[in-house]
Amino acid sequence: MMHWSLRRQSSWVQLAGHQGNFQLSEGGEVLKLYSEVEANCLDSLMRDPLRPFVPQYYGLDTRGDLCYIRLEDLLSGLRRPVIMDCKMGVRTYQEDELTKARVKAPLRSDMYQKMMKIDPSALSAEEHTQKAVTKWRYLQWRDTTSSTSTLGFRIEGIMKAYHSRLLALSDALKSSLFFRTHEVIGSSLLFVHDHSSKANVWMIDFGKTTPMPEASELQHNVPWAEGSREDGYLIGLTSLITSLGQAISL
Ligand code: ATP
Ligand code: MG
Ligand code: MG
Repeated sequence: MMHWSLRRQSSWVQLAGHQGNFQLSEGGEVLKLYSEVEANCLDSLMRDPLRPFVPQYYGLDTRGDLCYIRLEDLLSGLRRPVIMDCKMGVRTYQEDELTKARVKAPLRSDMYQKMMKIDPSALSAEEHTQKAVTKWRYLQWRDTTSSTSTLGFRIEGIMKAYHSRLLALSDALKSSLFFRTHEVIGSSLLFVHDHSSKANVWMIDFGKTTPMPEASELQHNVPWAEGSREDGYLIGLTSLITSLGQAISL
């Protein structure tokens, strides 16, 4: 799933996610609404070989009644940055979300509306009559349609920078205990560059990244079968590296 955006002059812009989840903070930081799952991940990541690939984590902050995670602003120092948020992996829902959605399958008209906006032809005659779909149907449709997204880059220098950063990330993932022991769902690679050819890629969004039970590890490069908890993160990363590599040699 890709979100592209050419940014305005303003210093910080959010590409995806819920608007209310973020607050600007002074001194090159952003505040993201607290989640225990994400805070635990960031804690571990600060002690992992993946640390240079994630925003620095500075702990928690309270504003009014709300608690936030303090993160390095990945856009600071860039002028009019161009950003791409690329959600990784072969699925973006956790296995228990699917189980819950199956057990309790109320018809959702809001999800029907979202599908209507993007691709009315994906809906069956029955769904059109009901003007609603189940959440399970919506989750699967969203992941299938988004995998058709294609990459588009213009500037070769930036592509090379992206390519070598992704190769370095791929190495770091191989030596990462965090990665071996976590199911990484709905996490993104955030691509940022500006016109002075500063380019970088960061791992972000660990709100659905959960530790595996003691002594069990994931491969990340095999298809998902329900119950395996495999996320396909490396399937995504390998495709990205291959696509970028092909584009560079064109
Ligand atoms: P989702 O709907 O994907 O679960 P979310 O609410 O968990 O979203 P994130 O995916 O963490 O939020 O972030 C949303 C957007 O905010 C990103 O696509 C990116 O544009 C911006 N963003 C997030 N973290 C940072 C950061 N540390 N520095 C700069 N921009 C960031
Ligand atoms: Mg996200
Ligand atoms: Mg998230």
